[in-house]
Amino acid sequence: MGDRYLDLVNHGFAAKVAKQLGLPRPVPLRRYVPGQPLVDGPLLVLGAGDDADAVARLLSGPAGGAGGPVLDGWDLDVHRRPTAGARYAAVVVVLTGLTHPSQLAEPMLAAGSVLRELASAGRIVTISRAATAADAPAVAAARQGVDGMLRSLAKELRGGSTANGIVLADGVPVQAAAAVALLRFLLSRRSAFVDGQLLTVDSEAGTLPTDWDRPLAGQVAVVTGAARGIGEAIAATLARDGATVVAVDVPAAGEQLAAVANRVRGTALQLDVTAADAGARILEHALQRHGRLDVVVHNAGIMRDKLLANMTPDRWESVLAVNIGAQLAINEALLTSGDFTAAPRIVALASTSGIAGNRGQTNYGASKGGVIGMVRATAPLLAPFGGTANAVAPGFIETDMTAHIPPVTRQIARRLNSLQQGGQPVDVAETVAFLASPAACGFQGRVLRVCGQNMVGQ
Ligand code: NAD
Repeated sequence: MGDRYLDLVNHGFAAKVAKQLGLPRPVPLRRYVPGQPLVDGPLLVLGAGDDADAVARLLSGPAGGAGGPVLDGWDLDVHRRPTAGARYAAVVVVLTGLTHPSQLAEPMLAAGSVLRELASAGRIVTISRAATAADAPAVAAARQGVDGMLRSLAKELRGGSTANGIVLADGVPVQAAAAVALLRFLLSRRSAFVDGQLLTVDSEAGTLPTDWDRPLAGQVAVVTGAARGIGEAIAATLARDGATVVAVDVPAAGEQLAAVANRVRGTALQLDVTAADAGARILEHALQRHGRLDVVVHNAGIMRDKLLANMTPDRWESVLAVNIGAQLAINEALLTSGDFTAAPRIVALASTSGIAGNRGQTNYGASKGGVIGMVRATAPLLAPFGGTANAVAPGFIETDMTAHIPPVTRQIARRLNSLQQGGQPVDVAETVAFLASPAACGFQGRVLRVCGQNMVGQ
């Protein structure tokens, strides 16, 4: 499952040759380790107006200061204009006040002036407002322009640096819990493989954690398909963040499942998610063993690829049943139980194939597009309880599932993104953990891609 090319081009003679030949030279991404500083070095906040001032205060605010208690400990070295010789770890560009595309020039050219000195694994984050049909044309043009600009900038960065955007829906303040938590996620190494993405904050809902290293403390989370791969990483990451985890997988994976459950100090539930009583059994297990259920991560998934011309009913039906049918049925059981009502959160695994399509994957694409539709329509059902449903769409991730792709196709698939490598299961897991956290209740039915800015699709 290892990426030998990545190892090769980062060492000795092969590194030189790759440079001379102009071959892709991906760098190993730096991942999050609890306790490490949020960013390594000074941070530049660009943009004028109250929102930019507020963001700068939030980031630099000393404990109990103007940043407020929610930001205790951020205490970053924040600059408000480029300083000669500074090597910035991150640049935050606040663009919420745009009323005309011409206003993009000043802050973006200022950002451009420091890019050559951006630290490796640097972070660019824009904060802007959502463009809507109700906006004046110039306002909508400016706001939508941020989208194209940000995605282009992400493609220019190197050295494991990323560019992502926070988009505030009308009326949502820059201090909204989900906006603050997203800013922290995007600045941190938790988002190492999230690149070229913009995520809209829909509301002020959500509460910030008292301990940013354990945002899920006291919560109970169910993870399906947890015996291996991405599901195993999700179980470990949610547990690291403080949750008690119920690890679910098919009985045939029972041994691996028990090992995962032991490792994360959770419990195992052997269950085929397509069973008619799956929802009831998940709820019963969570309530009997742990007294509550806060988070459900629908991760179990299968691929049975064939061109549609060669598709068989069993390939079609099994993929749809596991990847979306089970999610719908489990959600319905939970939502009608009356026991999933205290800020409940659902995070479901979609895929870039469900957005951009992929040859040989009409069944899989239907199921994963289905997940995106499902979270959009489920979020309003959870909102009255302070809950939410969102999806994570991984691109190419190094797991058993992708190890079965033919070698040449696999090598190409890995390089087709801005970070020029496949992601690791932990990259998906970090994003799931973020969307599962109580601070993320301001995202309603959204999809966040974890794909290194894969070149396919939006
Ligand atoms: P994987 O095949 O390594 O693991 C999937 C797990 O789900 C296995 O442990 C399996 O036993 C379990 N599972 C399958 N059917 C089940 C059922 N009916 N009931 C209970 N458990 C069941 O896959 P992965 O790569 O870790 O993928 C996890 C999720 O991420 C899937 O939904 C997949 O579609 C999605 N995804 C993966 C990638 C990738 O590149 N690996 C990309 C996009 C999306």
